[in-house]
Amino acid sequence: MTAQVVNGKEIVASRRERIKQETAALKESGVQPGLAVVLVGDDPASAVYVRNKIKACEDAGMLSEAYRLPATTSQAELLALIVKLNEDPRIHGILVQSPLPKGLSEEEVNETIAAEKDVDCFHPVNVGNLVLGKEGFLPCTPAGVIEILHTCGVPLAGKHAVVIGRSNIVGKPMALLLLREHATVTVCHSRTPNLADITRQADILISAVGRAGLVKREHVKPGAVVIDVGMNRGADGKLCGDVDFADAAEVAGLITPVPGCVGPMTITMLLNNTLQSARRAANR
Ligand code: NAD
Repeated sequence: MTAQVVNGKEIVASRRERIKQETAALKESGVQPGLAVVLVGDDPASAVYVRNKIKACEDAGMLSEAYRLPATTSQAELLALIVKLNEDPRIHGILVQSPLPKGLSEEEVNETIAAEKDVDCFHPVNVGNLVLGKEGFLPCTPAGVIEILHTCGVPLAGKHAVVIGRSNIVGKPMALLLLREHATVTVCHSRTPNLADITRQADILISAVGRAGLVKREHVKPGAVVIDVGMNRGADGKLCGDVDFADAAEVAGLITPVPGCVGPMTITMLLNNTLQSARRAANR
């Protein structure tokens, strides 16, 4: 293996320690950051994500409230809970875990969460601010990737970054944040022909697809930085990313592991957004 492996655990631990200290300082001035996490239905993966988020919040010294609703919850009941949380001064961030059970509208949920409590950055106002480059919440997964790149000292300005995936949650906002960093950005997706021809031009390659083993050595330019956002179950049932790690690491210069890097960094950015939101509330 030639690639250096990003020490995600160390980066996450040091960033969370800073958030913990800043949370304690804010608490001393009378405001404890608070996050409400809403889970509808009984998807086992979602239950794990929610548990991890609640635990991370508690570890950081924040208030965390979990609302576990049955899959039979109606849209009106879900929206009523969100309206209640919008008005709750103890809560600075509201997160509704996706995917929602069939029949519930994520779009309506995203539009109902107050923009100033939208720590996931899904509300149209926050997405608009992101596109315009205005101040506001940054979407957690792409913001986490940028933090990882900064922490590892990866130069971005003028570099060619290729993002695989164009979802509203990862691919599109990832491209926007890379543009903010003055990278030249290419976005690939399921209709992109000859994927490897494009990804091989990348100084920084970010995969957010959801397909194990998609990115192999032939997709990677020698010495490139490879960031794996994917979270999949491999044939052995183990958690893995989109990147065939052992194969791509033979060619890459720097590579992130799955698990243990982008996933926990995403939760760290959620804590950071909740802290920011509480600070803004304290200043209002
Ligand atoms: P999505 O299904 O909404 O989007 C996947 C994207 O991949 C689409 O834009 C599609 O066009 C593209 N795609 C599909 N097949 C392709 C192919 N063969 N070649 C090129 N592009 C292809 O998924 P998402 O919500 O963006 O999530 C992507 C992955 O990232 C998933 O594995 C998800 O679990 C993971 N994820 C991880 C975190 C984290 O915290 N680590 C957060 C969000 C998502």
